[in-house]
Amino acid sequence: MSWHVAEEDLRAYARGELQPPLLWSADTHLAGCAECRAVLASGWDSGVLEAAWERLDAELDAPRPRPFERLLLRLGVAGHTARLLAATPVLRRSWLTAVALVLAMSVLTARAGHSTTLFLALTPLLPLAGVALSYGPVADPTYEMTVVSPLHGFRLLMIRTVAVLAAALALTGLAGLALPGFGLGAFTWLLPALALTATGLALTPRLGPVTAPALAGGGWVALLLVAEAARNPGDHALAPFTATGQGVAAGVTALAAGLLFLIRDRFDQSTGGVR
Ligand SMILES: [Zn+2]
Repeated sequence: MSWHVAEEDLRAYARGELQPPLLWSADTHLAGCAECRAVLASGWDSGVLEAAWERLDAELDAPRPRPFERLLLRLGVAGHTARLLAATPVLRRSWLTAVALVLAMSVLTARAGHSTTLFLALTPLLPLAGVALSYGPVADPTYEMTVVSPLHGFRLLMIRTVAVLAAALALTGLAGLALPGFGLGAFTWLLPALALTATGLALTPRLGPVTAPALAGGGWVALLLVAEAARNPGDHALAPFTATGQGVAAGVTALAAGLLFLIRDRFDQSTGGVR
């Protein structure tokens, strides 16, 4: 890369005063240039830093779950990380409400129809969708924070993924408890959920933040349809929810997580593509 953003432009950018079209080229360049991000993160005086945080505060103020952030701080999470976690867009009420509604619906369906198929089919998609949504460029008010933040793209990705997974898995786990008649079978969504999320993330640097999770989700639906078609009348569960299916899901999770670790640098270099 031969061209870099001028330092005075970086300062203006940090203060939120850089105007288009310079702003656009700085945005694009910063997304792809770790060097300039480092200058941006390290080169300012405390006044500039404060102004940037203030601006973010104002943007994130309204729907930010302050008690959640305080809880994280009390648990010993670093202030910076707690702020990022608390500002993860999908942890907002709208996403959690959607998850709760889907869960409630599928629990009711399961109880009425004495079958957990719909519940087990839908729930693995929830964390996948949540992680994908937290990288939607439009939906992400913390994108600016990912620029001012000294955190690397991959670390930020992991922090958010863990946050989304924890929220989705906790809610789904609670929903599973509402299906006592189905025993442990009501929890066989867990490994497919982890496999889907890890696969979606591992494919993201290559396929982009929309196609990768869409492909993982589509693959899951296709797999379920095939399993349904191949189901014998005597079978209690679809193939992915049998012991063999669970083993495969665990294997896919491990593979995708390993791949994700190997390609972690690509998230730092192409923040623009995966944000
Ligand atoms: Zn640069």
